[in-house]
Amino acid sequence: ASVRRPLVAGNWKMNGLSASVAELDAMLTAAPGYPGCDLMICPPATLVAQFAARAAGKPVAIGGQDCHAEVSGAFTGDISAEMLADAGATAVIVGHSERRTYHEESDAEIRAKAQAAWRAGLTAIVCIGETKDERVSGKTLEVLGVQLAGSLPDGSTAKTLVVAYEPVWAIGTGLTPTAADVAEAHGFIRDRLVERFGAEGEGVRILYGGSVKPSNASELMAVANVDGALVGGASLKATDFLAIAAAY
Ligand code: PEP
Repeated sequence: ASVRRPLVAGNWKMNGLSASVAELDAMLTAAPGYPGCDLMICPPATLVAQFAARAAGKPVAIGGQDCHAEVSGAFTGDISAEMLADAGATAVIVGHSERRTYHEESDAEIRAKAQAAWRAGLTAIVCIGETKDERVSGKTLEVLGVQLAGSLPDGSTAKTLVVAYEPVWAIGTGLTPTAADVAEAHGFIRDRLVERFGAEGEGVRILYGGSVKPSNASELMAVANVDGALVGGASLKATDFLAIAAAY
């Protein structure tokens, strides 16, 4: 359902030790068999350098899960976009709902992080999505509109930006929206992107995320304006992750 080259990205969240390199290696070995989409793994920060070194020259990109907006400084525990780039990452997720919730990140902070990503030469994968309450009360598109307006920097391009639509209630719950609901949300996001960024907005990839697994990937990936997936739990195992990539 995509006129853009799809991207299937895995978000490992706070999972993975050095032994997990075996799972990455399994993905790297099999990846050439999935030429229909770009592949990316976003491991925890501790593994970015090791994974990037291993994936060098192979068709799996490595991304970070978050970055600080500043280049460097007195921000204990934080990691800058420049550090991720230096470790070999080519992209970074910003504004994941777990960051928005547990770290109270605002749209303005997320926008600053996306700009930091660009400053370091990384693609920003900006996450947006409504909560269950917001969906039930019919506010989904309104919420997405506010998040898009606030979280996306001016000057976004098809190369520098990926948007991930991740309904908060679908993340890690096994619940997914209907194909019609996904089509509505992705169509709305596309319209906002084109309205704001013109032709570049046509080229920005919009990923669906939230309980994507091998059994539902084909249906979700077939929806108009779904240009790939951001996968959490099912990206930890090479077999599941690649079975999702097989939707393309
Ligand atoms: C995510 O956290 O980005 C995600 C989509 O998680 P899951 O696939 O586990 O629902």
